[in-house]
Amino acid sequence: MRLFDTHTHLNMRDFARDLPLVLRRAQSRGVEKLLCVGYNFRSSAESVTLSQTVPYVWASVGVHPHDAKTVLDADYKFLDTLRSSPKVVAWGEIGLDYYRDLSPRPLQQEIFRAQIRLARKAKLPIIVHERDAHADLLVILEEEQAKEFGGVLHCFSASWKEARQALDLGFYLSFAGNVTYPASHSIREVAAKVPADRILVETDCPYLKPLPDRKGRNEPAFVRSVLEFVADLRGEPAEDLAVHAWENAHRLLCLVT
Ligand SMILES: [Zn+2]
Ligand SMILES: [Zn+2]
Repeated sequence: MRLFDTHTHLNMRDFARDLPLVLRRAQSRGVEKLLCVGYNFRSSAESVTLSQTVPYVWASVGVHPHDAKTVLDADYKFLDTLRSSPKVVAWGEIGLDYYRDLSPRPLQQEIFRAQIRLARKAKLPIIVHERDAHADLLVILEEEQAKEFGGVLHCFSASWKEARQALDLGFYLSFAGNVTYPASHSIREVAAKVPADRILVETDCPYLKPLPDRKGRNEPAFVRSVLEFVADLRGEPAEDLAVHAWENAHRLLCLVT
């Protein structure tokens, strides 16, 4: 089984001490490729550096809605320079988070739109983070014509109605370890129904460790548990879902398999 963990934060301090071991464990569980996702200025630069040193790691650059309040115009230029590295295959994570509201909502929207435009210019798909902001998110994706270059709603956690709207915009949906949590009924419904050519899996590590042991640090090796859980929901062999998820990740990120 070949797996692509399409959303990791190996650039976080949580992995500073034992990253080589974490990567080895991932490989031993079939994780052959990983995307290291930026969320601010510094972490985006670290994603790029890691992708330049580890052949099977790719990078994305972007500013998370939590960090919207820290963005200066100069940062865009910096990100725009970073993205010219050949290992940068996506722009993100970007989006709206009204659950934690760590930056004012109008500012989150402005920074999201600005980065969608940069992604369009760079011809990169976008990695979208959204919590409790689905209506505004859809308006922005439509107004900015995101359908033309596409992307993924990562750690998808909304209802089937919202999933349908995102699928209509041409987006992929990516599932993380929270799909395994007891209260995640609607996420499981979506994971069971999403068309096979639009599904991705991720860990979002170090967060969202899948069951059976939800405590502690998550790591890319556990993307296999996410995939097996989702395959079971869909009533299909894990090997088949792995093939779809692998192909989808490559199509989204314009990589050769
Ligand atoms: Zn996120
Ligand atoms: Zn993330």
